Amino acid sequence: MLRVAVVGSGPSGCYTAQSLIQRDPGVLVDVLDRLPCPFGLVRYGVAPDHEKIKSLQGSLRTVLEHERVRFLGGVRVGGPDGLPAARLRELYHAVVYCVGAATDRRLGVPGEELPGSWSATEFVSWYSAHPDAADAGFLRGVRSAVVIGVGNVAVDVARMLVRGAAELRPTDIPQAALDTLAASGLTEVHMVGRRGPAQARFTTKELRELGALPGVEVTVDKTDLALDPGDPGALPAAPRRNVEVLRGWAAQPSAAAPRRIRLRFFLRPVELLAVGGRVGAVRFERTAPDGRGGVTGTGRYEDVPAQLVLRSVGYRGVPLEGLPFDPASGTVPHREGRVLRDGVPSPGEYVAGWIKRGPTGVIGTNRPCAKETAAAVLSDAPALVRTDVPADPVPALRAVGVDPVPWDGWLAIERAEAELGSRLGRSVVKLADWDTLLAAARVR
Ligand code: NAP
Repeated sequence: MLRVAVVGSGPSGCYTAQSLIQRDPGVLVDVLDRLPCPFGLVRYGVAPDHEKIKSLQGSLRTVLEHERVRFLGGVRVGGPDGLPAARLRELYHAVVYCVGAATDRRLGVPGEELPGSWSATEFVSWYSAHPDAADAGFLRGVRSAVVIGVGNVAVDVARMLVRGAAELRPTDIPQAALDTLAASGLTEVHMVGRRGPAQARFTTKELRELGALPGVEVTVDKTDLALDPGDPGALPAAPRRNVEVLRGWAAQPSAAAPRRIRLRFFLRPVELLAVGGRVGAVRFERTAPDGRGGVTGTGRYEDVPAQLVLRSVGYRGVPLEGLPFDPASGTVPHREGRVLRDGVPSPGEYVAGWIKRGPTGVIGTNRPCAKETAAAVLSDAPALVRTDVPADPVPALRAVGVDPVPWDGWLAIERAEAELGSRLGRSVVKLADWDTLLAAARVR
């Protein structure tokens, strides 16, 4: 039997496990996760009101429940308290790292660290009940928010900021986040792109959804749209559809609504300005298209008032101690999923997902990516199985103080979340801190 460890139980980890077991009946897979809960960004990144995308958990679940797959939660690999990568390598014939892109990209402008300025990932983690997320008082005293970036994460956080309690209550959003969002005095969200509408990264489906939010007006400045003289008809389908939606909104008469999302373009953030020791506005430089999809500065500036700034400019991979890392791309160097050390494939070490190809694409993009890596593992298998590994690595993990949370522990967490929901008169409500999750996992 080929024993494989997959590190990370998000979509790329689950799809890798699935591909391995489907292609070869002689493979056993342990899927390790540092959290006691599986599903990675499907649980901790997909917004709570996107129930359809969240329902993908159902198909990931069938992978983790397969008889030749085992979920081992609460196992951290790398870092000061984690299992060293080299030790993990000794416990399995092959290790596939599917650890995603765990941090946010930086803007690199003055004022980025001011109180009231957060990465979108911090805000997403909070409303998704990630146990590492803190309740940072994101919305205290906030009337106007600026979201920097025009990708799908920016759309998610802008939408969550203006969603009403009645719409969020049926979701699994943690109670504290629901209460905070419900009590917020925010009336305006500015979502700002440094390039033009045709270069925006959001998908049309996600964009359109903004226009259907109850009690929310979406506005687009005609002047921003007019800055790009290009012919939208000449654009590829996806950006053309985005531009059509935006033009439609720009042509609409203003409608009074309690909350407003204002989409802005051709504005590059240059500084976050302080008022009373915390963020009070964002200074943008007006940009102009350069005719090649990029922009140039114009030397004209505009300040947008905001007591909350969410920097939504993309994720970034972080180095895992003991694995090579390319700081320029934030990924692990690889060839067809095989980790490269000094340009040479390192036997038994693989990557899939965002840590392999960077933080782009939708959940389904991970399928072909995982398949490629699984094919590499299986083609290397005859050489890999020659190494002796323990029949079961769990005793070796326990010997170094790591007691994995098994699938039963996760099922117990699910029950506790259902019970909490029913106590609160809601459906499932997520548990939001380590102690509660681990205590729930022990009730088996
Ligand atoms: P993204 O799609 O890469 O968008 C990042 C945005 O930040 C772009 O508008 C980019 O503008 C802007 N940006 C980057 N650096 C900047 C800077 N220094 N100053 C100002 N703006 C800057 O990243 P994302 O939104 O984090 O999404 C990550 C991936 O997850 C994407 O593939 C996304 O589709 C996916 N996702 C999907 C869903 C969904 O399907 N519902 C939901 C969430 C996320 P430029 O283009 O000018 O660089």
